Amino acid sequence: MDSYPPSVNELAESLSGSGLPHPVLVKEIRKAINEGDWENLEARIQRLKTMSLQTVINATGVLLHTNLGRAPWPYSSAGQAMNLELDLNSGARGSRQEHVGSLFATLCDAESAMIVNNCSSAVLLVLSALASEKGVAISRSEMVEIGGNFRVPDVLELSGAYLVEVGTTNRTRREDYERAILANRDVGMVMKIHQSNYKIVGFTESVEIDDLSGMDVPLVADIGSGLLDESCSWLEMAPPAWIAGEPAARQALASGADLVTFSGDKLLGGPQAGIIAGSADLIAKCMKHPLARAVRPGGLILSSLQELAMSYLNRDWEAIPFWKMAMTSIDELKDRAKNIGCGDPVSLESIPGGGTLPGVTIPSFGIQINDDVSHDLRLGAGGNPPIIARVEEGCTFLDLRTVDPRCDEHVANALHELS
Ligand SMILES: *Cc1c(COP(=O)(O)O)cnc(C)c1O
Repeated sequence: MDSYPPSVNELAESLSGSGLPHPVLVKEIRKAINEGDWENLEARIQRLKTMSLQTVINATGVLLHTNLGRAPWPYSSAGQAMNLELDLNSGARGSRQEHVGSLFATLCDAESAMIVNNCSSAVLLVLSALASEKGVAISRSEMVEIGGNFRVPDVLELSGAYLVEVGTTNRTRREDYERAILANRDVGMVMKIHQSNYKIVGFTESVEIDDLSGMDVPLVADIGSGLLDESCSWLEMAPPAWIAGEPAARQALASGADLVTFSGDKLLGGPQAGIIAGSADLIAKCMKHPLARAVRPGGLILSSLQELAMSYLNRDWEAIPFWKMAMTSIDELKDRAKNIGCGDPVSLESIPGGGTLPGVTIPSFGIQINDDVSHDLRLGAGGNPPIIARVEEGCTFLDLRTVDPRCDEHVANALHELS
């Protein structure tokens, strides 16, 4: 039996070639009729189709583009059951955190580690489990908004902890923390938050992690960006110059942080996740908190992270798409621009993006088209996938550093079609 008025149903049938499921078409047709916009039905269906999640080519030169899902990562799943919470030795129920957590503990040289859904939930869990109803001392210069409503004071409030502001916007010293702890007996944690997406310059002073250790309360460093080790020990070459000064998990812990929190899809180069690493005691408390269940990752993410951790541990950095694109040489990019053979070869500057390393650029190379063709590229010139390029002063720039070389041929076809 059909519950749709025939006209809507027939219209939907006639649009079945769009590839959209019948109920989706019906809903859109009804909406178009309600809005008195049914003449534009074809365009609306087309628009609906472009809204589905799909692969795109990132030619923006922003390595960790927030709108494009940050680090590119090949999610894979066998579509079969996995031993997510089964100990194959004993046949008893196991912990989904144990194995991948211990790989990350090794990578960070920490006693223990656990995985959650993203770095925001890592911070929320740490505060809820370790500082609820207690004060958390944070420098006034670190009362930041990371983006998309993640504001440190709000997250603190949500966790039940309260803020104990320390120092001033531009200068904070160890004595400021000590004074805050003395004046406020209920301070249960000191938190250092990396000013990921902005910089305070001029008359500034801040306290490094090693100056903050040994203060009787846990010291937590939210480094956000997910660099594991400032020496980039997984690379066979020296760390790239542009990474200098970025806080790293290993060094933060070695300098005295009891816990670090960071994202999986920023400089770590993996899927969206949050990692908490450090003291086994504190991690155990986090695991026991009810929120841990609410923010736990699924098997797809955990198996992805296991693969990523293995690549780091085996120093197989070329298996990590983020590091592969970050380390591609200018000569290689020049060769690729030449092979694509459209537009003008041009020197460009990529940026790390994803709210990391503000103001930092990475020398790059790409293609310039003397016209704004970004709209055509985005809507699939040369067929799918769409190509996302950068437009400046009426010209379109395709930065090849962020384009997977396997997509060069598609880029060439799209540009030929437009020329
Ligand atoms: C990016 C960032 C976050 C938020 O991380 P998500 O993984 O996006 O939730 C938190 N803290 C810092 C310092 C960050 O840089």
